[in-house]
Amino acid sequence: MRSESTGRRLIPVAEPFLTGNEKNYVFDCLESGWISGSGKYVEMLEEQFAAFCGTAHGVSVVNGTAALHVALLALGVGPGDEVIVPDLTYIASANAVAYCGARPVFADVDRSTWTVNPEDVARRITSRTKAIMPVHLYGHPADMDPILDLARAHELFVIEDAAQAHGAEYKSRRVGAMGEVATFSFYGNKIMTTGEGGMVTTNDLDLAQRVRLLKGQGVDPARRYWFPIIGYNYRLTNIQAAIGLAQFEKIDWLVERRREVAMQYRKALQDLPVSTPCEAAWAKNVYWLYSICVPKGSDRDFVMNELMKQGIETRPFFYPMHQMPPYYKENGNQDFPVSTDLGARGINLPSSANLSDEEIAYIANALRQVLS
Ligand SMILES: *Cc1c(COP(=O)(O)O)cnc(C)c1O
Repeated sequence: MRSESTGRRLIPVAEPFLTGNEKNYVFDCLESGWISGSGKYVEMLEEQFAAFCGTAHGVSVVNGTAALHVALLALGVGPGDEVIVPDLTYIASANAVAYCGARPVFADVDRSTWTVNPEDVARRITSRTKAIMPVHLYGHPADMDPILDLARAHELFVIEDAAQAHGAEYKSRRVGAMGEVATFSFYGNKIMTTGEGGMVTTNDLDLAQRVRLLKGQGVDPARRYWFPIIGYNYRLTNIQAAIGLAQFEKIDWLVERRREVAMQYRKALQDLPVSTPCEAAWAKNVYWLYSICVPKGSDRDFVMNELMKQGIETRPFFYPMHQMPPYYKENGNQDFPVSTDLGARGINLPSSANLSDEEIAYIANALRQVLS
């Protein structure tokens, strides 16, 4: 796509990079007739992705939202339960809790990492709390140790929403293996994609088996057409897994490129009055979307509009969850000063793996003009 005003390529926020074995593997599915929710690509992707995360089990599902849904159900989350979710996240984190009939309880985020603030999590624990769902936002891991300590002290489950953070590390450990269970998304703009898709990772065999039961219509693995529970059809197809396996073959490169893009941005933006993403001493940030916050008092939406005129696509940060109509009634009277502030000032810049240094310089210059 080209911008009408500049004639340049419209620089998208995130686009997939599908130039490896994707076509070959998809063609193989079509040739062999293995196009539905089982097959060798499903098995290989589950096995290899779990190994990448350092977990014993990986269960593929149709998308990252379904991954959260079945992971929560497998933990036994249901009506009357509360799950603590960061106030700054994508809506799916909260919605998956609501699908279970449970209540998402929001906690504010940390000003530097933008991930859930463990001290605020501690304040929001009640006798109904069943689990904590840290989100590794925009590719930066949440501060897991204090969260795991709280979970241990209060006998809570920890479910990592790692949809935006494939390959990110917390104290040299990859995300996806730190709580009871973790979930990933393979949506088209995520670090690796299957078009639509997701994965649940866990070291707990029992949990993995429950997730498998739930995603496969609840069918008894030993007795065809016997359904001991009400399950869901959340299967990832072999065709999607074929794309996923080809993507996974270059996961190290996909992650490295995002880190290189971040490095270039940091250099190019250093003289501008914007805050840039942090990388805590204990973190490996995979910079899913390279993001900035405009200074207090600047008009964020004006900045985004001006960039769009220059052929640069951007996104605003997520709106805080407590402001969303389905959650406002129960949460709108509470204070979330950090997520409210970040949500109003944050912009996601173009962050694709194939973004060139020249494009980054162009984006930085456009920002310099708008902010001067
Ligand atoms: C993308 C995303 C999801 C949902 O994944 P889908 O594959 O789009 O269903 C969940 N949580 C977070 C934090 C996400 O970014």
